Amino acid sequence: MKKKELICVICPNGCPLAVLVEEGTEGGPAFRVLAVEGEGCEKGPEWAEQEITHPVRTIASSILVEGGDFPLVSVRTDAPIPLGRIFEVMKEIRSVRVTAPVKIGDILVKNPAGTSCNLVATRMIRESNAS
Ligand code: SF4
Repeated sequence: MKKKELICVICPNGCPLAVLVEEGTEGGPAFRVLAVEGEGCEKGPEWAEQEITHPVRTIASSILVEGGDFPLVSVRTDAPIPLGRIFEVMKEIRSVRVTAPVKIGDILVKNPAGTSCNLVATRMIRESNAS
């Protein structure tokens, strides 16, 4: 058994969590959660369980734009993706070019790197010759 220290990121309280884990079984998650202490509410242990067994993250980045009034459009994933897939998704983000105009909320890439999320524009880009 091991004890892992985590800070819950679900709300601004940032409760320090002490998570007791044991090694997982082959083919499954690396660790299994046995107990969680230090939570300020019931969401803490749920988050700790996910963070230990299947950590996920959302990504915010930028994609190159051709013919726009700005060369980059900011994007984010519309759902969290497995932590282990971030490198592949970032590689696809770097390889993509889109053409202006772009509206906030436009889906610029569906299922990057085979994940179940989409990359959504979070900034408006006008055509460079638009008045
Ligand atoms: S355990 Fe509950 S109160 Fe504490 S940071 Fe997480 S969500 Fe907030």
